[in-house]
Amino acid sequence: MQPSAALARISPSPTLAVTTRVQELQRQGIDVIGLGAGEPDFDTPEHIKDAGIRAIRENRTRYTNVDGTPELKAAIAAKFARDNALTYDPSQISVNVGGKHTLFNAIVATVGPGDEVVIPAPYWVSYPDVVQFAGGTPVVVAAGPEQDYKLSPAVLDAAITPRTKWVILNSPSNPTGAAYTVAELRALGEVFARHPRVWVFADDMYEHIVYDDFKFATIAEVCPELYARTLTVNGCSKAYSMTGWRIGFAGGPAWLIKAMAKLQSQSTSNPCSIAQAAAVAALTGPQGFLKERAAAFQSRRDLVVSMLNQTTGMSCPRPEGAFYVYPSFPALIGKRTPKGVVIDSDEAFVGYLLDEARVAAVHGAAFGLSPAMRISYATSEELLRTACERIQEACAALR
Ligand code: PLP
Repeated sequence: MQPSAALARISPSPTLAVTTRVQELQRQGIDVIGLGAGEPDFDTPEHIKDAGIRAIRENRTRYTNVDGTPELKAAIAAKFARDNALTYDPSQISVNVGGKHTLFNAIVATVGPGDEVVIPAPYWVSYPDVVQFAGGTPVVVAAGPEQDYKLSPAVLDAAITPRTKWVILNSPSNPTGAAYTVAELRALGEVFARHPRVWVFADDMYEHIVYDDFKFATIAEVCPELYARTLTVNGCSKAYSMTGWRIGFAGGPAWLIKAMAKLQSQSTSNPCSIAQAAAVAALTGPQGFLKERAAAFQSRRDLVVSMLNQTTGMSCPRPEGAFYVYPSFPALIGKRTPKGVVIDSDEAFVGYLLDEARVAAVHGAAFGLSPAMRISYATSEELLRTACERIQEACAALR
C-alpha cells in the first residue's frame, strides 16, 4: 500500500507541528513558552458550555441535517444580517466541522486539475495545501510589508488568468493580523468587476478581533455586485474561544452550498450535534464579551509589538486584528549563534529560538514569506514579556 497521489501533494500543518513539539518539551519538564498555537487562551464562555451540556441532557445527540440544524442555520443567518448586513436564506448556509472544513469543502467541491486559486502571501498554511489536494494550482502572489501585508489591486489584476477560479481574501489575516479597510475592499472589487468569472473566498474568521476602532467589513457587504460569487466564511473557533468544538460556517450561493453538503454527506456527515447547540448559544447569546476579549488582545499586541521593535535586527508592524504578529528579520540572516551555527533561514532562526531561548514560534516560510516568523500573542502578558525578553537576548547574542 502506498499513500495516494493526492496525499503526496500536501504536507502536515506546520503550525500544528509546532504545538505538538511544545507539548512534548513541556511534558519533559522543559520550560518552553509556546507562541505557535493559533487559538485564544480564554475559556469558552459559561453560557455556551451550558448550552452544550443541556443538549447532552436533552438527548440532542443524534445525527442532524448534514450541513447544520435549522436552529443553527437561523442563528448564522441572523449573525450575517446583524454583523455584516448580508442576507442569506438557510439554503445559502453551510455548517462544517471547523473553518478548515469549510475551506476543504468549498475548494474540493469546485477546484480540479487546471484550475488556479490566487492566494496572497503570507497566507494561512492550509490554503495552498487544500488547493493542491483538490488537484488545483495555488497561485501565490506577494502581499508583503511594502503593501502593508495586503493584496493590492494591481497585483490581483496581474494574477488573474482565464483559469482562475477563486481568490482568497483573509481579513484580519493569519499570520500578519493585517485587515482590509472598506476603501481597500472597494478597490479590489473594481478589479473583480473586470473578471466576472472569478469567485471570492472571504475568510473572516478573525472578524471580532480588531483594534483601535478599526471597522471590520467583508467584501460581499462592501461590493454587493460580488454577493452572487462570494463565499463568506466564518466560524466560532476564534471569536468564541471554541477551537475544540469544531464549528465553521459559510454563506453563499445555494448551488455551491448544496455542492459542499454533497461532499460533506460522504465524508464527515453533520458537525457534532452538541457543538451545534453550543454554537447557537454563541451566536444568539450576549456578544459584549467579544469587545472585552479584543481589548485584552489589544494590550498584548501593544506589548509584543513594542518589545519586538526593541529587538536587534527585528522589525514588527502593528496589525489591525487577529492575535498574531509577523516580525521580519532580514538583518539576522547570515549571523552566527554563540555555538557557531549559521542562521541561514527563518526556519533555522526559530529552531535557534526554541533550542536556546525556549520560545516556540512558526517560521515565515510556512506562510510563504521569509525571513519572518509568526508569533501568536494569545497568552498572558507575563509570559509574553518573558518570551520577548528571551527573544531579545537571543537576538543580541547573534554575531
Ligand atoms: N481561517 C483562518 C484564517 C484561520 O487562521 C483558521 C484557523 O487557524 C481557520 C480559518 C480555521 O479555523 P477552525 O478550523 O479551527 O475553525
